[in-house]
Amino acid sequence: MQLKGSLKEFRALTQAQLDAWVAQARVMVQAGRIPDYIPRLAEVDRNWLAVQIEFSDGQTYAVGDVEQPFALMSVIKPFVLLFLLEQLGHETVFSQVGMQPSDQPFHSVAQLVADQGFPRNPMINSGAIALADCLPGHDGPSRCEALRQWLNQLSGAQLVLDREMLASVRSVGNETNRAIATLLAESSGLSSVETALDTYNHICCLAGTVVDLAHLGMLMTSPHARISRSHQQTVNALMLTCGLYEASGEFAVQLGLPTKSGVSGALLAIAPSFGAIACYSPALDKTGNSIAGLFLLERLTRSLELSIFG
Ligand code: GLN
Repeated sequence: MQLKGSLKEFRALTQAQLDAWVAQARVMVQAGRIPDYIPRLAEVDRNWLAVQIEFSDGQTYAVGDVEQPFALMSVIKPFVLLFLLEQLGHETVFSQVGMQPSDQPFHSVAQLVADQGFPRNPMINSGAIALADCLPGHDGPSRCEALRQWLNQLSGAQLVLDREMLASVRSVGNETNRAIATLLAESSGLSSVETALDTYNHICCLAGTVVDLAHLGMLMTSPHARISRSHQQTVNALMLTCGLYEASGEFAVQLGLPTKSGVSGALLAIAPSFGAIACYSPALDKTGNSIAGLFLLERLTRSLELSIFG
């Protein structure tokens, strides 16, 4: 496959250059915020930092704590969308959720109220809770397992359910997500607030390493025998416009790549036809995006000219 440049250019990326950027990122994370609204998220070491780059020719680069597992949190959202597009089709999925970016935080109840209970997009909590309720299965564990198995089979990732993280999520109740689910139930008829929330909590606690995350990303980088091209395009477009919450527009300019973040510090960028870049570093900026992850993505996309805009 030949787009701009070629895979040869990637070989110009030296391990020394990558190591130097990682060293810079390690300084930046000292100022970041470690979220503590889920107690287990606060138990991390802010110095954990890992990057995995996987190219479509099989070449990989890895730096840092690549064996450190983490919960995907919101990075699971594009994969819920991809799975449901494959299972239910475009029309059914987009009868449940919109395609509009939001300038509100990812857990905004006000946004959902303003939109009369119709979730703006699948990359924010309201949209993901609505879609979680469409997963096949009768309860949270079985729905999560269906998604986990599909993703692992198709990508070669080894995602597991992080039960300690799930217990921690449950221990705090999360009233904001409950308020979102209650509004959804009133407007669009979730099957049950409890089941939708429990499913959402389960899927956010699917966990893996940056290697697993890069494997997942590869589902959206190149034509795939078991995934429709148009579904890949839909997911990539929504990651570009909505994947970094209210900072999505800014980073569409800065990075020019479909990208998704999670509150655990996970970050995934898709370079269509070229490969996937997965980062993990738990210190977040004020929007809830990984500081080191965004810094490294910016360096990588600029120096390798990865922007989809040419
Ligand atoms: N489970 C998290 C929540 O709903 C996921 C949010 C995120 O990663 N941004 O709070």
